Amino acid sequence: MAAPQVLVVGGGLIGAATAFYLSKKGAKPIVLEAVSPACSASGKAGGFLALDWCDSQATGPLARRSFALHEQLAKELGTDCGYRRVRTHSISVKPGATGAHAAGGASAVRRPPSLPGWVDTENIGQASVIGTEETTAQVHPELLTKALLAAAEAAGGSLQLAAAVGLRLAGEDDSGGGGGGGGAEGQRHVAEVRVRDRASGEEREVAADAVVFCMGAWSAQLRSWLPQLGGLEVSGLKVHSIVLADPPHRPTTADALFLAYRGSDGKSLEPEVYPRPNGQVYVCDVSEDDVAVPATAADVLPRPDAIATLQGVAASVSKDLGAAELLQGQACLLPCTADGLPVIGRVPGLANAYVATGHSCWGILQAPATGEAVAELVVDGAARSTNLRAFDPARLARQAARRQR
Ligand SMILES: Cc1cc2nc3c(=O)[nH]c(=O)nc-3n(C[C@H](O)[C@H](O)[C@H](O)COP(=O)(O)OP(=O)(O)OC[C@H]3O[C@@H](n4cnc5c(N)ncnc54)[C@H](O)[C@@H]3O)c2cc1C
Repeated sequence: MAAPQVLVVGGGLIGAATAFYLSKKGAKPIVLEAVSPACSASGKAGGFLALDWCDSQATGPLARRSFALHEQLAKELGTDCGYRRVRTHSISVKPGATGAHAAGGASAVRRPPSLPGWVDTENIGQASVIGTEETTAQVHPELLTKALLAAAEAAGGSLQLAAAVGLRLAGEDDSGGGGGGGGAEGQRHVAEVRVRDRASGEEREVAADAVVFCMGAWSAQLRSWLPQLGGLEVSGLKVHSIVLADPPHRPTTADALFLAYRGSDGKSLEPEVYPRPNGQVYVCDVSEDDVAVPATAADVLPRPDAIATLQGVAASVSKDLGAAELLQGQACLLPCTADGLPVIGRVPGLANAYVATGHSCWGILQAPATGEAVAELVVDGAARSTNLRAFDPARLARQAARRQR
């Protein structure tokens, strides 16, 4: 039997992991990416991973399975994706700290023994260890996304820089743009996806045995293509981040920092600071609610004041970070769902359409187990490695009905 061809719409980490595990199961994934691989959240995320921080939520098993898969991938892919175990600290920064440090750099308070040597104590209030090398780790999300796509391509898959712009369900004419009403379970299916080539702008139809939609913050678009997903609500929370060059004096260590920070303007933030094995340092926070999702990820631009704030955060914990060169100041959209849970599974009423989206702030962690389970669902008809019941897209219609009451 010929290998099933599976269209994966979206070249973020969820799409890349899905393509990778599909290719491991003998399918031929064709990844459609509207802009470039890892151009959005998956290229601009921190990459922090935790074994048990989702345990109190329905995503707990997905996170635990993924934590193990990340370690496995680091060995299996044969490419350096910046994976390592880290020690994780909670640190409160004194209100109003701006990065100005005491003359001569003398520490004002006794250094907690657990505090990494590159963190200055002048501006630090309290510090505690909240994750050990047993339970927390990190990965470079962009490198991992690209490595998974490359591995899927090496196994016979392909990547096309083109946007999905519409669908044709079986039995309909090819006017495109919208789907008809759902028929009996399993009878209707996506016959073709209309795609627009990024370079030429030309449109064409692509047929496949199955389609998996991994469109991140752009997933709400699916509602106009698939009435079966009418209840799907995915918003994009705009979040800023910076990447600093290897700081000049004290090398950073395998420590991740979760900060409680109040700037001189009185605004509270909870920034995260992740030194990476390549010496660069990633810092994120400063979000904007109610941002309309623009046409593509290329249209999500950072605000200069947010980037300056993040540089101030970095300087407040370490004068070395304050002196480090700014390599990237960026923003992207976090894909968030109305009920806070990802949407993973088969689209109700369609035999060959699947969705995997809405992983919010844990999509890097949860991507491998998501991709693995979706590949099982597509190829074997059931996900065995992780129970996806809590993430079933069928819940969306029930939620929409409740909202209308
Ligand atoms: C600042 C920040 C820090 C984060 N840090 C962490 C962290 O430390 N740990 C963690 O676990 N998670 C983290 N996350 C969350 C994580 O980044 C996301 O959950 C995850 O990247 C979502 O992946 P995705 O593939 O669903 O979406 P995306 O990465 O947004 O990818 C979706 C892709 O689909 C493409 N696309 C959309 N529409 C179409 C179309 N019609 N046709 C073709 N392509 C299309 C887009 O161009 C995009 O490339 C962070 C997020 C942010 C914003």
